Amino acid sequence: MRYQPVIGLEIHAELLTDSKVFCTCQNEFGGSENTRVCPRCSGLPGTLPLLNQGAVRLAAKAGFATDCVVHNYSAFDRKNYFYPDLPKAYQITQFEHPICTDGHITVTGGKDIRINRIHIEEDAGKLVHDDYEGISMADYNRCGVPLIEIVTEPDFRSVEEVQDFVEQIALRLKYAGVCDARMEQGSMRVDVNISIMPVGSTEFGTRAELKNLNSLKAIGRAIEYEINRQAEILDNGGTVVQETRRYNDNHGDTKALRSKEEAHDYRYFPEPDIPPVLLSDADMAEIKASMPEMPQTRFARYTKEYGLPEEDSRLIISNKEFSDFYDEAVKVNPDYKQISNIMLVELMRHLNESEKAVSDLLFSPADLAELVKMSTDSVVSRNAAKDILKIMFDSGKKPMDIAKENGFIMDNDASGMDDIVSKVLSENADSMESYRNGNEKVFGFLMGQVVRAAGKGANPKLIKDLLTEKLK
Ligand code: ADP
Ligand code: ZN
Ligand code: MG
Repeated sequence: MRYQPVIGLEIHAELLTDSKVFCTCQNEFGGSENTRVCPRCSGLPGTLPLLNQGAVRLAAKAGFATDCVVHNYSAFDRKNYFYPDLPKAYQITQFEHPICTDGHITVTGGKDIRINRIHIEEDAGKLVHDDYEGISMADYNRCGVPLIEIVTEPDFRSVEEVQDFVEQIALRLKYAGVCDARMEQGSMRVDVNISIMPVGSTEFGTRAELKNLNSLKAIGRAIEYEINRQAEILDNGGTVVQETRRYNDNHGDTKALRSKEEAHDYRYFPEPDIPPVLLSDADMAEIKASMPEMPQTRFARYTKEYGLPEEDSRLIISNKEFSDFYDEAVKVNPDYKQISNIMLVELMRHLNESEKAVSDLLFSPADLAELVKMSTDSVVSRNAAKDILKIMFDSGKKPMDIAKENGFIMDNDASGMDDIVSKVLSENADSMESYRNGNEKVFGFLMGQVVRAAGKGANPKLIKDLLTEKLK
């Protein structure tokens, strides 16, 4: 039988607040165990939660970034569960009244994936199991870190749609400053719900929930494995059970973790210690106005207004700082294509080779804009522009100063060049002869000889014209 996968996502993203969501402990990654805990986030009796308004703001921004309705009224509930990663024995979350609902993101192929809801909740601690000693250790640094959970409708039908969505969500959250979306560090965690149904059917099958997916690749592999596992069960006349499964990247398989809880298992009830969250229309307008331009809007601007190829546009927007730098540069010199080229090829290479970030750059977007103008105005040759960029990258010096100091200013004096070309030709009579007998490859060699004689400021176009003329 051939099957159609049906997939829905639940994405947890840690919010970039300074402190935790219900106490003043720092919200950070790493460090020694249990160094960022207090009576509140370790669940001591008698303590009360105090809601971090910054977390509310970031959750609203996540909603605006994904075309959700952001609600004036939302409220917290208690989700009761007994597990040592959460010492209170309940998680404060939003169940009945989430802050955002009804969003969507368009994925590859033009299909809209609906976002059911985004709600705020607190993260749990981390348990480290030592099988050798037979003990488990609890680290509560992460306990009480503010999270949003983004829940989609089961609208995905392929791995590609899922991966595109996850990439877009990560990028939008980063642009909006909501989350740094580092899947490998766990600051964004994707759970995949997947079921299969016979091709042509409209009735969804029973789903499994896959956890522990910490890269786009792992997501792809886990889905492929799970489709095959479920198909084998159905082909053999069995039934898929609803359960949570853990993906193991080393084995490339998934293993049952626990049977899936139902909502009633959690005994949800309204959180009595936190008043409802009220956002006025003025709050809403102010938060919306603080949103930066989103990557999808930039993509449209680059492709439609600037005429950049889609692939180039995608590369530029994939890093907000890089894209900000590009935008500043084209404000000074609106040569969209040339600035994109030199940034994506030369600048990207220097950044990668030196493992530096855009924020480490010693020169400004305006310097880069000027360099490109010097090249298009034939003040320096294209090759010299590349050399100048490298020196700018290493020293932060101005492009014009570098060009002057290093003799890169192009010599556009035709009569001077005429003499040099004649001299080179007379010294290379054999090659000239060979060219005239049809060996056109020699042209490049002669060009090289003239450039060497004339120095780095040589104007290649001028040399080429003179050579062509004299070789006739
Ligand atoms: P629950 O209330 O049991 O957690 P939800 O309706 O909230 O279930 O769905 C949880 C996630 O599972 C969502 O991402 C949703 O898109 C996805 N999902 C629901 N039904 C299916 C299904 N039949 N196949 C695949 N994914 C599903
Ligand atoms: Zn605390
Ligand atoms: Mg649910």
